[in-house]
Amino acid sequence: MRRCLPVLGLAFVTALRAQEPLDEAANTFFLEQGLQHSQVMDHLSWMCDVYGPRLTGSPNLRRAQAWATKTFSDFGLQHARTEAWGPFGRGWRLDRVVVEVIGDNPWPVIAYPKAWSPSLPGRIEAEVVHAAALDADTLKAMDLSGKIVFTDPIREISEPFDATAKRFDAEDLLTKADQRTSAGQGRDRRAGAAARENDFRMGAPRREAMQRILAEKSPLALVDRGSKGDYGTVFVQGANAVRPADLPQGERGPSARTAGARVIPQFTIAVEHYNRIARILAKGLPVKLALELQTTYFDDDANDYNVVADLPGGDPALRDQIVMLGGHFDSWHTGTGATDNGAGSAVAMEAVRLIAAYCQKNGVAPRRTIRVALWSGEEQGLLGSRAYVEQQFGKHSALKPEHALLSGYYNLDNGTGKVRGVYLQGNEAVAPIFRQWLRPFHEHGATTLTLDNTGGTDHLAFDGLGLPGFQFIQDPVSYDPKTHHSNMDVWDHAVAADLQQAATVMASFVWHTAQRDELLPRKPMPAPRGERGPAFGGQAPGGLGRGR
Ligand SMILES: [Zn+2]
Repeated sequence: MRRCLPVLGLAFVTALRAQEPLDEAANTFFLEQGLQHSQVMDHLSWMCDVYGPRLTGSPNLRRAQAWATKTFSDFGLQHARTEAWGPFGRGWRLDRVVVEVIGDNPWPVIAYPKAWSPSLPGRIEAEVVHAAALDADTLKAMDLSGKIVFTDPIREISEPFDATAKRFDAEDLLTKADQRTSAGQGRDRRAGAAARENDFRMGAPRREAMQRILAEKSPLALVDRGSKGDYGTVFVQGANAVRPADLPQGERGPSARTAGARVIPQFTIAVEHYNRIARILAKGLPVKLALELQTTYFDDDANDYNVVADLPGGDPALRDQIVMLGGHFDSWHTGTGATDNGAGSAVAMEAVRLIAAYCQKNGVAPRRTIRVALWSGEEQGLLGSRAYVEQQFGKHSALKPEHALLSGYYNLDNGTGKVRGVYLQGNEAVAPIFRQWLRPFHEHGATTLTLDNTGGTDHLAFDGLGLPGFQFIQDPVSYDPKTHHSNMDVWDHAVAADLQQAATVMASFVWHTAQRDELLPRKPMPAPRGERGPAFGGQAPGGLGRGR
């Protein structure tokens, strides 16, 4: 017994010595300033109330990018700039929309055009045809040129007896911590998608068949009701361009933002309003709608931009190495892009403000250079972040020297919820480091590491090239049921205390990554996923899907 004591002692000391150092002074500053003197909600108000929505290619995003560049400079960051990528395609803005039922019982309809829909020539008044209630032969026989076509079947809605806003409880976090791969998530997502698919009672094949018929018949407008949302909350994304009839099967058609693409004006309306009109039509009674839609395309600049700014490193041995943080700055167009992704952008902005303030107060600089990035084009396929990674670090077949100089990238893009931990993207070696860095934030709810991947956002651009890229685990709050891509994605639904906590945790992770002796450990280089050609116009290649 006595003989093993020194051995245990030694093991304890080595474990202690091996333990990742914590910068108590920095954490104390971040906690105090980040939770008591936060500016995160003010950043968010400028991004949303003044410059929202921020659709990629739109004048709003340009103005927001100029404001963010100046704001980073005001914090004391260097080389604040916008970096071009592209071509992305045409910019677009919604100027005016009116949809109303007319006749002897007129009423206004909650409605939004899908992004990149063209204007309508003045006020049009036309009958509604519920195509989803018809079979293909009947539809083929119809003249739809002067009609407004409803493309979805009725969607039953149920009352929200369960609370809409959610936080992960201990059991949820335990389940996450035990997950080693994204199998679990896929299952949830697949179940959700299958459930939503069923309510179409049509399935993709019949839906595509109907779309092809409709494209040939050139109706005045297409109207649907989205696969979720109620009580006036409408989820709306981009319009589809008409697929040229002569395009070979399997070849990707033009996107609606491609100059010259044929786009039928497309609307999503509140499900309750959609269902009412469909029920009236099912009674054999006609319904007439009046539509007014004014939109503007912007062809002056087919590129878009990422906003980037640096806090230069001060350690001669490490300052050429960088630590990055960020999130996407672009949003969809019916809300003001508050929880998606003004939240992540404001948190990244606040995190670098906290770090810069700490450096100014103590007359120090981080050892490695810290770089913040606000991406664009995320909603169309992680386009901005992927362009940046390729321009900065190269591609699988031609890595650049800079690829060896990035320690890690931290992303926030899962809504307004506070940080509960980190998705490790399968990087086991980084777990003990992050476990130590989370300790000071356990009492603030950040406790959990999972080996699991999480998808659909900009850390994937880094992860895909073997660079450590991480998205934080965040409480869901009302992201999926209420704000994610909806007309109610506005400042009022961002939770201040959650974003203050998130900025504080992010500042600490970035600071400790900049200060530690070594770069963060990496996973083995993943296999390439079909690298794109020079042009960035197209969608993201297979496997990376659309943004979230
Ligand atoms: Zn997003």
